[in-house]
Amino acid sequence: MLDIENIRKDFKILEQKVHNKPLVYFDNAATTQKPKCVIDKMVDYYNNYNSNIHRAAHHLANIATQEYEKSRTYIKEFINAASTDEIIFTAGTTAGLNLLAFSFTERYIKSGDNVIISEMEHHANIVPWQLACERKGANLRVIPITDSGELKIDELKKMIDGRTKIISITYISNVLGTINDVRRVIEIAHQMDIPVVLDAAQAVAHLEIDVQELDCDFLVFSGHKIYGPTGTGILYGKAKYMNEIPPYQSGGEMIKQVSFEKTTFNELPYKFEPGTPNICGAIVLSEGMKYIKEIGIAAISAYENELLRYAEEKIMQIEGVKIYGTAPDKAGALSFNIQGIHHYDLGVLLDQMGVAIRTGHHCAQPLMKRFGIEGMARASFAFYNTKDEIDYFISSLQRAVKLLK
Ligand code: PMP
Repeated sequence: MLDIENIRKDFKILEQKVHNKPLVYFDNAATTQKPKCVIDKMVDYYNNYNSNIHRAAHHLANIATQEYEKSRTYIKEFINAASTDEIIFTAGTTAGLNLLAFSFTERYIKSGDNVIISEMEHHANIVPWQLACERKGANLRVIPITDSGELKIDELKKMIDGRTKIISITYISNVLGTINDVRRVIEIAHQMDIPVVLDAAQAVAHLEIDVQELDCDFLVFSGHKIYGPTGTGILYGKAKYMNEIPPYQSGGEMIKQVSFEKTTFNELPYKFEPGTPNICGAIVLSEGMKYIKEIGIAAISAYENELLRYAEEKIMQIEGVKIYGTAPDKAGALSFNIQGIHHYDLGVLLDQMGVAIRTGHHCAQPLMKRFGIEGMARASFAFYNTKDEIDYFISSLQRAVKLLK
């Protein structure tokens, strides 16, 4: 059992009032709030050991470098990667996917090859691959989904062929909340030696992730969705691929030797970390992860699931409500529309009542098209949320519906 009352004390932001009403923060899929330890660690960095890393011989640089590498080691253990060489600090999920879509494609994709994604992807896992395919004359293939929001795995089996070079899918949908059967996808892909990228932007804060057990070839996530700072993230990639693919961005730190005739590149992971990185962010990133590890990811997951089921049950009592994403295996997000009401109007009225939800296309326009709509409202939960907040959200929703109908 989680001690929510105590946990909430770690998140000062949750104490505030919005439009004179206690804040109910249900936009956790967009970004999570930061516990005190994360904020303290940031302040500590800038107060006590701000310095550039890796290059200098002085005291502060040594501490900053040690902390930076310590964070990498922690993250390696957190996702159980085989080596710290496989942990690349990035600016987030989008940055990681762009890196892969460029560098993997440069090395492995030729005209006439194909890349497979799914219909439920975030734009960050669509557009970089689309651009890469256009550059190379390759084809983008899309796994369709069912009405309940699950991948049609049988269709994947039909579309995969000898020219499929990579499959990139989301672990948990930011819209539907579906936890995809990524093990099955990886199993199918590996039968044909095709590597799989997992977009774990939503999954990392809701599920325990063990990259070796999953046997995914790449995995990306953002720090800000796991109680860490914005502008941080991780690209995990198996060394056998990461050694082969060319650098994405170049400059200082990622080189071994530079001359005007030729440049050779640094070893992993530095080959993919050019320039001065977000040092503070990378150090602090692991702090949010430690925080949830201490609470217990399994306990967090179970509690968030309880919140989600509770909210789903309650919202069904509102007339004209339609939930998007009814897969049995779900986490985090409750997306919906109410007949005759625009989702944006709901969002604005709820905000007036202190409730923060998200409305719009959720960076998944093809998915909106799949459901024949322009957008939807989404409430998304974290372990610091409560059933009381859900009750308040539902009664606020009922009031909003009355006002808008
Ligand atoms: N993929 C998924 C599934 C997401 O939920 C998000 C963020 N909404 C992203 C990718 C992009 O993450 P970021 O904006 O942090 O790069």
